[in-house]
Amino acid sequence: MGEEYEEERTKMVVDQIMGRGLRDGRLLKAFMAVPRHLFVPAGMVEFAYYDEPLPIGCGQTISQPYIVALMTSLLNLAGDETVLEIGTGSGYQAAILAQLVRRVHTVEYYAPLAEQAERILGELEYPNIAVHVGDGSQGWPPGSPYAGIVITAAAPEAPPCVLNQLAEGGRLVVPVGSRQYQELQIWERKWDKFSFESVLPVSFVPLRGKFGWSEEQWPQIR
Ligand code: SAH
Repeated sequence: MGEEYEEERTKMVVDQIMGRGLRDGRLLKAFMAVPRHLFVPAGMVEFAYYDEPLPIGCGQTISQPYIVALMTSLLNLAGDETVLEIGTGSGYQAAILAQLVRRVHTVEYYAPLAEQAERILGELEYPNIAVHVGDGSQGWPPGSPYAGIVITAAAPEAPPCVLNQLAEGGRLVVPVGSRQYQELQIWERKWDKFSFESVLPVSFVPLRGKFGWSEEQWPQIR
């Protein structure tokens, strides 16, 4: 399944990911292995390997390939980790992470998106991904501690309870900000101290839930 579009996929990896300086062999192999066109709605398949995010329903998007690659590479994954993704969306980022670690937990706020992601991830037979429906702004305590956490929606701040689910030496990647301005932050836990660096300006859909943005603060067009 998903053998088609190999030429488009190779071009995506070479131009968008390698071309912007991400050269890690394991990372590139993961992007070659996952059939991105199966994670977009039927009418969007021809755009699946474009250098942009795409709508996936419920007012949500599948992130641009380079941003998925950058967020993944910032986690410095070695291969034996348990990681958490907050914002399953299409399931694409979870599929990429599953190539690179031992176990992936991913949480989605909107049940229809979680169900669709779970269906495609099941068809592709990735055995090491667990999809959960819930408020990921509070993390996913049952799977913690995590060596890496990636939040794929814009948060008002790095949620402290999510930071607390990091293992010693663990890393959190999170876009922080409002609709007007967001920056991608990389956090690290060292001896129970948390520090972060800003990586680059980005644009994500809002994180909902207890530690996210309310509909009043940041309404969304569906
Ligand atoms: N990683 C996704 C990108 C999805 S966009 C992909 O590869 O396709 C961000 C996702 O975060 C959306 O699906 C949105 O519904 C979800 N989201 C927003 N707030 C959330 C919350 N509090 N908990 C879990 N998921 C949330």
